[in-house]
Amino acid sequence: MSRTAFRSHILHFNDDPARNAAAGAVMAYDDGVLVVEDGRIAALGTPEEMADLTRDVDVQHCPDSLIIPGFIDTHVHYPQIDMIGSYGKDLLDWLGHYAFPTEIGLKRFKDKAIDTAGFFLDELLRNGTTSALVFPTVHAHTVDAIFSQALKRNMRLIAGKVMMDVHAPDDLLDTAQSSYDDSLSLIEKWRGKGRLGYAVTPRFALTSSPEQLRGAGDLLAQNPDVLLHTHLSENTKEIARAQELFPDSDSYLDIYQRAGLLGPRSIFAHCVHLTDAERRTLANAGAAIAHCPTSNLFLGSGLFDIAAAQEANITIGLGSDVGAGTSLSAFASMSEAYKVAQMRGHSLHPYEAFYLATLGGARAVHIDHHVGNFAPGKEADFVVLDLAATPLMARRLARANTFEEMLFALMILGDDRAVKSTYIAGALAHERQSAKNS
Ligand SMILES: [Zn+2]
Repeated sequence: MSRTAFRSHILHFNDDPARNAAAGAVMAYDDGVLVVEDGRIAALGTPEEMADLTRDVDVQHCPDSLIIPGFIDTHVHYPQIDMIGSYGKDLLDWLGHYAFPTEIGLKRFKDKAIDTAGFFLDELLRNGTTSALVFPTVHAHTVDAIFSQALKRNMRLIAGKVMMDVHAPDDLLDTAQSSYDDSLSLIEKWRGKGRLGYAVTPRFALTSSPEQLRGAGDLLAQNPDVLLHTHLSENTKEIARAQELFPDSDSYLDIYQRAGLLGPRSIFAHCVHLTDAERRTLANAGAAIAHCPTSNLFLGSGLFDIAAAQEANITIGLGSDVGAGTSLSAFASMSEAYKVAQMRGHSLHPYEAFYLATLGGARAVHIDHHVGNFAPGKEADFVVLDLAATPLMARRLARANTFEEMLFALMILGDDRAVKSTYIAGALAHERQSAKNS
């Protein structure tokens, strides 16, 4: 048995602070000790409470730090890491000019996919993100690449072959039958390996035939351990096009619902332009939304209404949506989510933002029974954040009078420099190399 312990400011959540205002949703320690045993959370408490458990343990002191559960990225495209920051007009233009050509670039090159996947995962760790729900490309070997690299790093990661059989370049097209067959073989190949999970991944309604969407629905029904991951209502032109392509459907969400793709295991990225009826349908189905604020701003897609989604009781996580998103950092997603909410007349509380980036995200992608907070027995994926990562942060955070004030300034000013170290199942997976304040 190996026991380690970390002493620092510590924050985690037992529930959504927006829904459960009662004491116990937010667990904030000015001086806490996190005890880790054999890769799992053993206990958390004050130094006095943990004294017995840490009697023979060399407790690691982390001054000017905050320990939180690892960030969860609920929507991101790993091949697009190579074209992040590409100038474009809007979603459909940007897909055609940058995203699709980049994904075609991996078609015949297994080594390149493995290299990209490895780089992407190392960047996640450098940003303190320990789990993600990931889009590869339509090519099965890109799924093997991300899974094999995640397995090597012992990361809890979910991905699945992109399904697209119409309205895209030939090199990115499969067929309804081949996408079903390839997805099924990948599910069987990777099921039960390490900490990996599979998501059936039709890109979006615009690039799938009704037959392909029904095949995706069959996969979901036949494999109760897999998730459904796709895009929904990101941009007004996309919604209009979806309605043209599926004239019998009542709404964009209805296209997915008719194909059997709406349920408690479904995660829909964006959902910027939902109707009230669609929000109710999502809530009743128990489906989740991946809110991707940096991407929505970058592509000018629109302002997600987080208050309406919360009011409807929909599970929400934060997604970077790189490469349309502009950063893999959860700090960027939290900070932009705050600003998007402001534009909607709602102030996102820092506790709520950190909840969305950790336990909320874990709930959205159904890994909250493994990770997302520091409940005893959970896998010890966590990050040590440096509250004095830059001269400005050191100066500003030293002036914070309350935990909430400190947290808010951290979420606005923080970036990858604030991630001092990242732990995966209790093992050090990333340690910041650069000198302090550099
Ligand atoms: Zn996306």
